[in-house]
Amino acid sequence: MPSRRRRLKLHYELIGCALHGHALVGTDAAQIRPDDSALVRNWGGMRLHRCLRCDAWLALPEPRTATRPFPPTRAEIELPLRGRPLRDRYVLRLIAIDRAVHVVVLAVAALLLLLVASTSRPCAMTSPGSSPIWRATARPAISTGCSARCRRR
Ligand SMILES: [Zn+2]
Repeated sequence: MPSRRRRLKLHYELIGCALHGHALVGTDAAQIRPDDSALVRNWGGMRLHRCLRCDAWLALPEPRTATRPFPPTRAEIELPLRGRPLRDRYVLRLIAIDRAVHVVVLAVAALLLLLVASTSRPCAMTSPGSSPIWRATARPAISTGCSARCRRR
């Protein structure tokens, strides 16, 4: 028996419309032709506009000052991204944000590490004469000047 639970599906078109607003055409048109019914329709003194991105129909008042006589034709309309290309755009942006966060976090961690390494005091084991192991293995420092044998001459 198949599960009755509906799987939650993320609609990237709705995210695009939430972030950028609906992609409507013909909101500034004075008249509507019958050919424009796929995008704009008259509806009881209002106009129904179809969003090119999410397919929602929105009721808007007729424009008070129309800037064009008719809605743009199909050739004039630039369609927004939908479906898989829109999903890919958001996924690529999320990947870019994730990598930018990684770069910042790793850069801060590296700077902190360098800061701690530069300000910390040397270890007690590395200072001569501080431990019996160091004293046993310590050798005299190499001198570039004259040796004691040279000074006697
Ligand atoms: Zn929309």
